Amino acid sequence: MQCVLRDKFRLYPNAEDEYDVTLFENSLVFEPCVKGKGLAPYRSRTEVRLEDVIGCHVMRVAENATGLKRSVSYFCVYAYHLVQKKKQNLCHRRQKRTYVFEVDHSGEYEANLAVSRVWQSAFLWLLRGVKPERGGDGQACIPAELPAQRHYLVIVNPKSGPGRSLEIFLHRVRPILAEADISHLLLVTERRNHARDFIKNLQLNQWSGILIISGDGLLYEVYNGLMERPDWELAVKIPIGIIPGGSGNGLARTISHAANEPYVSDPILASTLGIAKGRVAPLDLMKVETPSGPLYSFLNVGWGIMADIDIESEKLRAIGEIRFTLWAFWRVFNLRTYHGRISYLPASEKMKGSGSNGVISRLVTSSRNGPSSAPPRNRSSGADLGDLCGQNGNTRTLNRSKSAPEGHHTGDHTTSRSGMEDGTDMEKAAERALPGGTDDQASVPATGEELPPELELVADSSVGRVPGPEPQEPTLSAPEWFPALTDPVPDDWTVEEGRFIICYSSMVSHLGTNLFIAPESRLDDGIAWLLIIRGEVSRFQVLSYFKAQEDGHHVDLPFVRLIPVRAFRLETFSDSTITVDGEQVKTRILQARVLPSLGRILTF
Ligand code: ADP
Ligand code: MG
Repeated sequence: MQCVLRDKFRLYPNAEDEYDVTLFENSLVFEPCVKGKGLAPYRSRTEVRLEDVIGCHVMRVAENATGLKRSVSYFCVYAYHLVQKKKQNLCHRRQKRTYVFEVDHSGEYEANLAVSRVWQSAFLWLLRGVKPERGGDGQACIPAELPAQRHYLVIVNPKSGPGRSLEIFLHRVRPILAEADISHLLLVTERRNHARDFIKNLQLNQWSGILIISGDGLLYEVYNGLMERPDWELAVKIPIGIIPGGSGNGLARTISHAANEPYVSDPILASTLGIAKGRVAPLDLMKVETPSGPLYSFLNVGWGIMADIDIESEKLRAIGEIRFTLWAFWRVFNLRTYHGRISYLPASEKMKGSGSNGVISRLVTSSRNGPSSAPPRNRSSGADLGDLCGQNGNTRTLNRSKSAPEGHHTGDHTTSRSGMEDGTDMEKAAERALPGGTDDQASVPATGEELPPELELVADSSVGRVPGPEPQEPTLSAPEWFPALTDPVPDDWTVEEGRFIICYSSMVSHLGTNLFIAPESRLDDGIAWLLIIRGEVSRFQVLSYFKAQEDGHHVDLPFVRLIPVRAFRLETFSDSTITVDGEQVKTRILQARVLPSLGRILTF
């Protein structure tokens, strides 16, 4: 392991003993200078993996604090460690730890601050996956400038699921964004399609990504808004983060599952940390053609009992995910079959005019950060960030997240943009609108160890920031192999006709917390997983299917088929519900094809 920085600091607030502190390229290690000294739990060697770290801030003694030396500077490191639950060894979760180091080498504050800045810069660059260059003596050269700040557009649907999305954002997500050095601007939707319309006209290149706090339905709006833009090829590449706030949160669950992150114990924390880490990964989308025009999907196309459950249980939205289970019982009790035809191109057929799995994703790598000469301040490339090797992209600062500890200011001020309110004002209004105002945190679990109130953040406006990466050229080529909706399906497609119970395609492994529909699905496998149950099954068999799908064992049932496909066409012969990403679509025919790796998500 290569050493990046080494020094001696005290740990705040246990500031009695000095520690040897070493920053390596993938961990931070500290131990008391005098063996056996130091305060519990840091009496022996402590190692913090950078994988678990999301940010580093520089702090100073607060204006109104007493009894602390004003010449001291501090830097704090925010980590979320994986811990095992004692009783259930398998079910782990993440727990927050904040490490505050005291820099007191000099009687001059500025000199101590300079040391803190070097450590902060080293941390932030390493967190972006950038290892320091080495001088002739092997010493790491730490850039004086911090990496460009990430700036996210946050869209909240206050009506999703049980209606807690705004509260979730303000109380649980926002503090973590601040720790991770991510600034944001908040849009609270006022109606259906608000986000879709908004996204259609948004100047995208000022954003590093879009965060959705809602169910899958709001992201469906966002993707359709992005694809309706003239510059869709670039727009659709904007990295998307999703925090589960709805009753159907398939993508959030799938992303955590793919990253092997503990989700069930705290879905909000798992998803927010993924966004804070900000690795950008490819996401398959699907183009769904209907007689009234195309739709874009990242989740599923549903027909049969599952689509009925999805739509008919809407009235139970307020009870959250459990609505699907309750309505499943109702629908099995009142079982019906669905008459139609499904035609599909199995994934085993070679894909004409397209790359193989994972190859297209490689074409979307980003350029590295541009030249270090200062570009215009607001120049950034929201739709072009990061690459697929663990480095996330970042944009210039526009405004700052409200910082985690209330009242701590992180620096730059809010910039208004056309058509949007000042982010801070909007958030204040949003907070006031919440029942109980800002202090209503009773129902929100605490994040864990917090910062000492006598320290405050030091603005980094005096430190340089490197520019964000340049926009890249779109790389998507049009497919020639796909039939028109009015043409017969090609010969290499399989056609099945008759009565069905379920005909359902999924792009994700999970459609809900305990709905493991396509166990082998990967976010960029270029595959839609087509689940088919024919009409000739009993109520008991359908029930056993619903039970088995909780952990993915439905694939072993003899009457269930899960077929990997590249494209399919669905025709219904009787009145029945069809859904795309959980939203009802009024049509009797549609056809869909996978657009491999067209979108991009933020992940751990
Ligand atoms: P859920 O998982 O609870 O269904 P979704 O995020 O899927 O939550 O949203 C459900 C629906 O709400 C979507 O169709 C979306 O278009 C719509 N919607 C978005 N914003 C609003 C709003 N402010 N008021 C009402 N409906 C909205
Ligand atoms: Mg897939």
